[in-house]
Amino acid sequence: MPTSTTPVLIGGSIAIDNIKTPTAEGKNLLGGSASFTGFAASYFTSPVHLVGIIGKDFPQEHLDLFEKKGISTDGLERSEGDTFSWSGSYHENMNDRDTLAVAINVLEDWTPKIPAEMASAPIVVLANMHPLNQLQMISQLTAEKPFIAADTMDLWITIANDDLHKVLQKIDLLVINESEARDFCKTSNLIKAGQRLLGKGPANVVIKLGEFGAILFSKDVSSPPHPLAPSLPQLPGVSLFRCAAFPLTEVADPTGAGDSFLGALAGHLASTGKSEFSFDDIRQAIAYGSVVASFTCEAFSANRLAHISRQDIDSRLTLLKNLTHWP
Ligand code: AMP
Repeated sequence: MPTSTTPVLIGGSIAIDNIKTPTAEGKNLLGGSASFTGFAASYFTSPVHLVGIIGKDFPQEHLDLFEKKGISTDGLERSEGDTFSWSGSYHENMNDRDTLAVAINVLEDWTPKIPAEMASAPIVVLANMHPLNQLQMISQLTAEKPFIAADTMDLWITIANDDLHKVLQKIDLLVINESEARDFCKTSNLIKAGQRLLGKGPANVVIKLGEFGAILFSKDVSSPPHPLAPSLPQLPGVSLFRCAAFPLTEVADPTGAGDSFLGALAGHLASTGKSEFSFDDIRQAIAYGSVVASFTCEAFSANRLAHISRQDIDSRLTLLKNLTHWP
């Protein structure tokens, strides 16, 4: 069990996934943005609270697994409908995938309700879900100044652009895939995309690059600037950090890697016990995010992610540091 007792509140989808990769297939798997985020965060702090909705078909064994990992499911609404389901297929290059089918089911009319005892969590993750649901969650938070991290996807950029812009005004950190960042900001230049996303509201933006890691863009709030927070002359007021992914020779299924990245990031921030986070804190959190995401890729669903130890994470973190550092 982690030693940190700072609560993390996670809202998002709880899903049944069907996944095809170039070499294998998995059906009726535990998935969902909140599920992966929760497992990842559970290695860093406790309690981790999930807010989401499941249907009558949701297997008890998955609920048992959440509980076994110290993840509280008291914020999960149980509905008589069917659980949200997502089917996806990966290309030969596993950075690319197609959505084959989405059954919205119980998510259709869902309004998240945060139980009172969870609403004061100082760290909040709005994992991938409709931006309207993200706004509904934000409106129920009761902590004075919670740190809010959010994820999004191409679908919301297309069909809920205004609501997504409202979310961006209210959060502290956005994570987004590189192709989505380019589309959202209408530029093929990722550095410009990061700069433009910062301009939309959040103080921190993380653009995820799949097997190539991630880039952190941060509004430079320290004065004088942190000596190790490189600000490029053409990007005044922006600090950058480039984090590699942990190198893998076998990728079984990258589903949930982005969610796990976000969960570990939030979990690490919670574990610092701080209420405000420096560039250094977020940089460290992103390195943990990269490492934890690598475990997710090594098996279908959370079959690897849910069965690692904190020591496994820390060993990979040391390796990643050595791989990417020079004197
Ligand atoms: P990731 O691979 O990190 O992007 O996350 C994949 C997870 O997101 C899968 O387990 C899906 O169940 C879930 N997911 C896919 N589409 C949606 C959606 N429209 N809303 C919420 N969750 C989704």
